[in-house]
Amino acid sequence: MAKKVPLFIDGELTDSEAREWIEVTNPATNAVVAECPLTLGVEIERAIASAKEAQGHWREVPVPERARYLMRYQELLKAHQQAIARTLAEETGKTLTDASGEVWRGIEVVEHAMGLPTHLMGETLANVAAKVDTTSWRQPLGVCAGITPFNFPAMIPLWMFPLAIGCGNAFVLKPSEQDPLTPTFLAELFRDAGFPPGLLQIIHGGKAQAQALLEHPDIQAISFVGSAAVGQHIYRTATAHLKRAQCMVGAKNHMVVMADADKQQVINHLVGAACGAAGQRCMAISVAVLVGEQTRAWTGELQSALAKLRPGSVTDPEAAYGPLISRQAKARVEEIIGAAEREGAKLLLDGRGCTVEGYPAGNWVGPTLIDEVTSAMRCYREEIFGPVLSVMHVADLDQAIELVNRNPYGNGTSIFTHSGAAARKYRHEIEVGQIGVNLPIPVPLPFFAFTGSKGSFYGDLHPYGKDAIRFYTKTKTVIERWLDADTPSGNGPNMTLNLR
Ligand code: NAD
Repeated sequence: MAKKVPLFIDGELTDSEAREWIEVTNPATNAVVAECPLTLGVEIERAIASAKEAQGHWREVPVPERARYLMRYQELLKAHQQAIARTLAEETGKTLTDASGEVWRGIEVVEHAMGLPTHLMGETLANVAAKVDTTSWRQPLGVCAGITPFNFPAMIPLWMFPLAIGCGNAFVLKPSEQDPLTPTFLAELFRDAGFPPGLLQIIHGGKAQAQALLEHPDIQAISFVGSAAVGQHIYRTATAHLKRAQCMVGAKNHMVVMADADKQQVINHLVGAACGAAGQRCMAISVAVLVGEQTRAWTGELQSALAKLRPGSVTDPEAAYGPLISRQAKARVEEIIGAAEREGAKLLLDGRGCTVEGYPAGNWVGPTLIDEVTSAMRCYREEIFGPVLSVMHVADLDQAIELVNRNPYGNGTSIFTHSGAAARKYRHEIEVGQIGVNLPIPVPLPFFAFTGSKGSFYGDLHPYGKDAIRFYTKTKTVIERWLDADTPSGNGPNMTLNLR
């Protein structure tokens, strides 16, 4: 019988009394590896109440002490990096190298969180008026919640709860129902790091469980990562319930290739950025914008390079990437490839019907290259989330910029060129939140925020970096004057707002 995924409530892994369970499958075989509960309302209430109780004590724990807990957590995450990666690979289908890389990017955020005593410092200005000093403090919000997607079950929860908790909050996480085992592993290590019980709670499920968090009066802030349609709903609902919200959503990321770029570098980076993790990354490059006549000829070599990629199982060290997360995801990607063909694009590589020896039931899609794509086609309008690269051709950099700026999404983009002037123009004029110059996937390290924009982000403050500290805290400003013998006693009441 498949194992039942436990909840994490009040510091303990707890069996759910749920009546309904969702099957968690290994995407390479579609065998059921676990069952994920649709957490009951009473269990969610228990988790939030426990978080609230814990936060009341935790907010009084000195900030350096909080950072020490995070140091222990970081040590445990590092010690278990490969074990977490194995769990992650089993339920997502990622290759072990990719899974381990993902865990590392999460650990980097925890490392950053260890500097919280510095990050949480407020501002002070003495003498803003006679004998008046002003100081701002950053204080926790209370209980915050996170709703996370399937494609980074370690990294994205780690974007959220270590910083939120380090800032003095408690955190309720509802991970993706498609891969709940990795977050459970993160919770076990959190418990083993010795954090007081209740600071992190994990409830499982789907829409209804997320909705309960959005509506609950004791949740102060919602961090969401997932698809655009769901993110819009989350943002509207959370803010309608007067909560803070940050929603990092879908994407369509273009790589602009200038003719003066190094061709081999461009091809290598396009192959990795389009097909790594089977294209299931919000920062995957899904569109190559080739600028000028000269670059037209590059598609042949791109095709040959992509054709060499082979998807495969976790245990296959030669596999370039794994299966898609589900049968539905595979069916949708294949449908979009079919639509591109019908709409007149040139299918240079067709990944439909891909098979992998020994894994007949896996959700495989082969590397796919679609040339002569136009912005009206479905493969351009929608986020594909598969190992599919669309190629578009434009005459010059101005046209490339216009194309990218017209796209509703704004998560990431990159330009490959040897021209400083072209790169400068691109990064200045492009309306996208994260820009790589000769780097395909510009995901910032955690001292900077993850600054997706336009239709890829709803909210004001982004995950990690200084933004996250602001998101998970409120500012208290103290203005003070201490009277002494030299202070004039004043000339009667001050009837203005002015300090004097
Ligand atoms: P998804 O939107 O289907 O699910 C995300 C989370 O929302 C899950 O926990 C799910 O249970 C929950 N959910 C689903 N429907 C809901 C509803 N109606 N109400 C409330 N909650 C609901 O996304 P996914 O398929 O798991 O993840 C892939 C998407 O995430 C892609 O669009 C990708 O671009 C995006 N993503 C964005 C970023 C970013 O930083 N911008 C990072 C990673 C992934």
